[in-house]
Amino acid sequence: MSCAFDGCQRQAARGGYCWGHVQQQSRGQPLHELRFYGEPLTRLYEAAIRFYEVDEDDEHRAAADNLRTAALAYAWHVLRKQVRKVPSLSTLQAILRG
Ligand SMILES: [Zn+2]
Repeated sequence: MSCAFDGCQRQAARGGYCWGHVQQQSRGQPLHELRFYGEPLTRLYEAAIRFYEVDEDDEHRAAADNLRTAALAYAWHVLRKQVRKVPSLSTLQAILRG
């Protein structure tokens, strides 16, 4: 089922809304279309929820990888706004992989 907000294709999470729109609600904002900067955080929320919901071992591993990727993408996104010279996401991933 998709989000109850008109035109939002994200998966519904709580109260019929996706995590991005649940966040807007919890901040007391009038609901509006999710802007780009909200997406990495939404992805991170969704990855975290999936991580805690899976039961099978093999799915758990995939969910953990997905969560790690989403967390890194979000961290990079935040960093990019605060630091002038940030390496590309792929460079950062390569550094962290060692
Ligand atoms: Zn939504």
